Amino acid sequence: MGPISAADYGIVSALKCERVLLKFDPKDLNGSTRNGGAAVACSDGDTDIRVFHGQISHRPHCQLITGGTLRYIPSFRGYKKRFAFELMRDLKALMSIKETKTLFLYLHAPCGMAIKYLYGIREQISLAAEARNFFASDQFFVPEKIHLLFHVKRLDTGGDLKQRTYKIAL
Ligand SMILES: [Zn+2]
Repeated sequence: MGPISAADYGIVSALKCERVLLKFDPKDLNGSTRNGGAAVACSDGDTDIRVFHGQISHRPHCQLITGGTLRYIPSFRGYKKRFAFELMRDLKALMSIKETKTLFLYLHAPCGMAIKYLYGIREQISLAAEARNFFASDQFFVPEKIHLLFHVKRLDTGGDLKQRTYKIAL
């Protein structure tokens, strides 16, 4: 899958102006990835989320599934309850085994699963907020240790491919 369209990048730019998407600096984590942290990300081969995540965690414990974080959200149009239940069980096992409470929930664009179920960028961001609330309502997780991230693949004005990861501030 190629980069996002210019129109979609316009939406990303607007979200940056609205301070919904913020620059994410891994240094802000203040060592909370000492045990690696765990990431839920899309297994889409058209994104370098894993490369990015390797930079913020020296031991990148990843749960990679098609659609990533979207698959957990009950209101997501592609939600499958039993699958989501098993995913959650698997994620908790991963975090327990690796002794970490730090969780990175990734969404990205363009994401094949988001496109398949007709979600635009803004709708995806709304789903991200829902995901955070969903995880935060489960006592296994520590709300301050849940990080929502949005990975974007686009062409810059010179036609070069750029990939950026933003913090979702919702
Ligand atoms: Zn995806």
